[in-house]
Amino acid sequence: MYRSHTCGELRATDINKEVTLSGWVQKTRDKGFMVWVDIRDRYGITQLIFDEERSSKALMEQAQKLGREFVIQAKGTVIERASKNPNIPTGDIELLVSELNILNDALLPPFTIEDETDGGEELRMQYRYLDIRRNPVKNNLIFRHKVTQEVRNYLSKQSFVEVETPYLIKSTPEGARDFVVPSRMNEGEFYALPQSPQTFKQLLMVGGMDKYFQIVKCFRDEDLRADRQPEFTQIDCEMAFVEQEDILNTFEGLTRHLLKEINGVEVDTFPRMTFDDAMRLYGNDKPDIRFGMEFGELNAVAQHKDFNVFNNAELVVGIAVPGGNTYTRKEIDKLIDWVKRPQVGALGMVYCRCNDDGTYKSSVDKFYDQDDLAKWADVTGAKAGDLICVLSGDTNKVRAQLSALRMELAERLGLRKSDEFAPLWVVDFPLLEWDEDTERYHAMHHPFTSPKPGQLELLDSKPGEVKANAYDLVLNGNEIGGGSIRIHDKSTQAIMLKHLGFSDEEARAQFGFLMDAFEYGAPPHGGIAFGLDRLVAILGGQETIRDFIAFPKNNSGRDVMIDAPAPIDNEQLQELNLKLDL
Ligand code: ASP
Repeated sequence: MYRSHTCGELRATDINKEVTLSGWVQKTRDKGFMVWVDIRDRYGITQLIFDEERSSKALMEQAQKLGREFVIQAKGTVIERASKNPNIPTGDIELLVSELNILNDALLPPFTIEDETDGGEELRMQYRYLDIRRNPVKNNLIFRHKVTQEVRNYLSKQSFVEVETPYLIKSTPEGARDFVVPSRMNEGEFYALPQSPQTFKQLLMVGGMDKYFQIVKCFRDEDLRADRQPEFTQIDCEMAFVEQEDILNTFEGLTRHLLKEINGVEVDTFPRMTFDDAMRLYGNDKPDIRFGMEFGELNAVAQHKDFNVFNNAELVVGIAVPGGNTYTRKEIDKLIDWVKRPQVGALGMVYCRCNDDGTYKSSVDKFYDQDDLAKWADVTGAKAGDLICVLSGDTNKVRAQLSALRMELAERLGLRKSDEFAPLWVVDFPLLEWDEDTERYHAMHHPFTSPKPGQLELLDSKPGEVKANAYDLVLNGNEIGGGSIRIHDKSTQAIMLKHLGFSDEEARAQFGFLMDAFEYGAPPHGGIAFGLDRLVAILGGQETIRDFIAFPKNNSGRDVMIDAPAPIDNEQLQELNLKLDL
């Protein structure tokens, strides 16, 4: 028996008990006549004591040789500690050791195994197994486990069945590139790893499973923007015989359950906002509504003066920064530099100070008088003491720029509180999205999303205006889930694929199996998928998903610990009938 108790378990009530502990050496303190050793496992830390008077010479010597992270087993008696440590649960006791076994020695770790470590990110990733010994990482993994348990409990109680779907499949279009796997047995052919189990979960509905979920890995080969992973986890769900309302209610229930069980927070009914309103009011389809600073569109009150920058713009739009009038000229100049950075891309920024005495002072006073500026304040909701920041240009670009500024300022003002939760449904997404690069329409969600009733006819005349039965769940400015009511008949699916530029042959080759299934009695169905990594990070009050993944990849998609991806040898290439041409 390696241990009778864990290192986090013993209390004053255990005094005089004979116990055995196993774990890692956190640290040792050697006073010559006395040695203290902190032994650590997942559950906590217990102090071991060796002293000249009560321990044999051999035992003292053994203790003195222990190094950090040695794996040890200690047997002994629980005694009361002379100087108690109120900071740890085992702080009232210590273990007077009678037998010490070194189970394994250890090299000095390349960084300290402490809550605040001296190891940089790259080093910690390379030695992730050591990083996992640290409380912050360990606790995040345990936290993630709690969330997935709650998800499973909740959905199972609602009659959902967890079904596994295959990883070696054919492409599922979710807007990214596929990771592909060559098939040895089928020369020249490739599997794709699923970007999501989308088509399979729909087939499960055709199969009569009625309510499906799966906590599942998805793979998307895309350029890794900050905080994305090439493989990530979804809570993937699908339901038959449902309308949008049923899905929203079911998954609002799940989210409320998680907020309550995990965070102890009760939230009201989730507000709903159309995609168009979200873009107009926040410049963003995943608005953070923990704070206001809504956009005010200023075209009507700022155009047709002599200021041509505004006159020539498609959209003039501003936000009121609460208390922003305290910013110095220098601080405002810095803000202007910030919006001009290539990452944001604004050409400049106009501002207007709202003075305490009710007067205004703007950077464009030459063109606008006090009455004009009062209208700006009215439209943006600015009060005395605020600063109005105004951007102008092409609608889509300027919305994205002002949205970035809004988030940055809210962050600086401390308005994005990690213990506050503001969920929101964004609904009525466009069905299609224009892609500048390919000069074509793409499915905004995916090709299986149904248009709103009666809008199919618009596909030919005004494709950009067709709305979809699609919805996103947004939490604190992050999209944590998204889904749609699906097309469930072959002819609509064929029309949709045609509009997305698939020829009949291409549609048949890629999605024939789904179209065929639709001919055998497909029920109306719909679903949603949550990004588990991000959901867990947000519930955990953080925003970096890597911190909640046991073995994450870096920004170049590499696992620096196992050093993957890696070349394969010629023999393996030959077996796969592959030749490299680099
Ligand atoms: N498969 C979709 C996605 O991964 C989710 C859904 O439509 O249910 O975004």
